[in-house]
Amino acid sequence: MSERQLIYAANWKMNLGPSDARRYSERFLALTSPIPGRSLWFFPPAVSLSAVSECMQSRADIRVGVQNVHWEAKGAFTGEVSIPMALEAGARAVLAGHSERRQLFGETDEYVARKAKAALNLGVTPVVCVGETLAERDGGRTEAVIVRQLAPVLEALEPPEWNRVVLAYEPVWAIGTGKNATPDDAAQIHELIRLELSHHGVSSRVPILYGGSVNSGNVLSLLARPQLDGVLVGGASLDPEGWAELVGLS
Ligand code: PEP
Repeated sequence: MSERQLIYAANWKMNLGPSDARRYSERFLALTSPIPGRSLWFFPPAVSLSAVSECMQSRADIRVGVQNVHWEAKGAFTGEVSIPMALEAGARAVLAGHSERRQLFGETDEYVARKAKAALNLGVTPVVCVGETLAERDGGRTEAVIVRQLAPVLEALEPPEWNRVVLAYEPVWAIGTGKNATPDDAAQIHELIRLELSHHGVSSRVPILYGGSVNSGNVLSLLARPQLDGVLVGGASLDPEGWAELVGLS
């Protein structure tokens, strides 16, 4: 049987500019060594991409990604970063549809699909985030919301392209709240996502990460569920000591 592959993804959000990011990276490298079956992904702010990717380039188990991109390669899109620019700065993955982008910046399901498609066209791995709000969950609409969020992405990508996609289930009510989904709840939604993919002929091997208040106290019980292929972590990834401890737990 092949070894389980886990992804530990750190989303730094709007934290750690270039000099802090460089200090973090150097410290993190000093504290950790590669662990078979684990890959570590870092999503720093765009301005810190070069610093992190330069520091981390010696580690084959580490991948650097960008938190957001525009789907066009260049043009009159003030404030945006394109995929070729992020690539040049060292990004090999892109978050698409993080709930903060959806909720605070009006990112629609269609935008998410365009970003994912554009990333794949340039050889960059999209990490497509889906998840329901508390009101949607309380209203029994979790499944419908996730199916709706996935629909344009399923429409835009050909089934073989999914071999280069990562999904993240991030319930909005769990992000930054200290209230994580239970392992049972997370596993159940991951199964639902997988079922939805299979209805569209998509491989069952697409990694699905869980995100939402993951920390070193709950990560092992979450990852004990085989439905989870890794975690996407915000707050608990912001200091190198804590993140090094979390990614090394077993
Ligand atoms: C996130 O930003 O994707 C996230 C899951 O944040 P946190 O771990 O802080 O809940």
